[in-house]
Amino acid sequence: MDIEGKNRITGRFAPSPSGRMHVGNLLSALLAWLSARAAGGRMVLRMEDLDPDRTSRALADQLEDDLRFLGFDWDEGGSAGGPNGPYYQSGRTGLYAEALAQLEKKGLLYPCFCTRAQLHAAEAPHNSDGETIYSGRCRGLTTEQIEAQARLRAPAVRLRLPDETVRFVDGHYGPVEQNLARECGDIILRRSDGVFAYQLAVVLDDIAMGVTQVVRGRDLLSSTPRQMYLYRLFGARPPQYIHVPLLLARDGRRLSKREHDLDLGALRARGFSGEEIVGRVAYLAGLLPHPRPARPRDLLPLFSWEKVPKENLVLPEDLFRDAQ
Ligand code: GLU
Repeated sequence: MDIEGKNRITGRFAPSPSGRMHVGNLLSALLAWLSARAAGGRMVLRMEDLDPDRTSRALADQLEDDLRFLGFDWDEGGSAGGPNGPYYQSGRTGLYAEALAQLEKKGLLYPCFCTRAQLHAAEAPHNSDGETIYSGRCRGLTTEQIEAQARLRAPAVRLRLPDETVRFVDGHYGPVEQNLARECGDIILRRSDGVFAYQLAVVLDDIAMGVTQVVRGRDLLSSTPRQMYLYRLFGARPPQYIHVPLLLARDGRRLSKREHDLDLGALRARGFSGEEIVGRVAYLAGLLPHPRPARPRDLLPLFSWEKVPKENLVLPEDLFRDAQ
């Protein structure tokens, strides 16, 4: 294996600092770290704080503290910075604007004036993930129509997606294919309030930060083909994608940042150590036969993607009942 050379893997943590990390986020973070480190790879920490209404620097600092408490390390990014910074998306908007201007020059973008109600109308088509597929209502507006609408409201910016099927092999789920026009539809790259879209920022940042391996929750599996299309537009090679199962509550709902009893703030306050938390999540991920305290680096010799289940994981009710 080429540990030092150009084939060295670069993985990343890309959390959104919109609340404390919960055990579902930790599952993805643990597998991302183990996957890169077990192959002698590097890790980058990038804060996805694009939305100023939902994220903050204080939450980003807290997240970094939680990652360290759990025993993770990284080679660049976060508050320590590094050669490819800034590592906070809020500090990278100039780069996103430049990239958008490039796409604009190629005639690939158009302004979209649709209201929320128009976008989510009952008759709007949905893909298998329940996302609405854009109808294309603003795709063919004339210059006069655009000028008239622009006097009334600020537009979002959309990217035209071609009628083309993207295929790739996910490192955990195997072959995936998606027709961009039928199963995705034209995507927003900048919202009408000026906030750049995750889909654009994640691709530009992973390119700029040299990320070669993306490990993340399978809720983003269906976003991957559109992201791969963006890589092509920017003339870059997509990373290896490895999606991981989601962690569900007993009633089948996804754990979210709203479940405060399972976030790092609550678990730390209840006296759980980093090792106890990591060990329990490693057990859920199939890496330990029983929950026992473990640091991420203790799990390196035990890590293999074959042990990680493909179906979503249901959190046993009593797993985090008592700290030891
Ligand atoms: N920031 C995203 C999240 O926290 C992850 C994005 C990604 O891994 O591509 O869900």
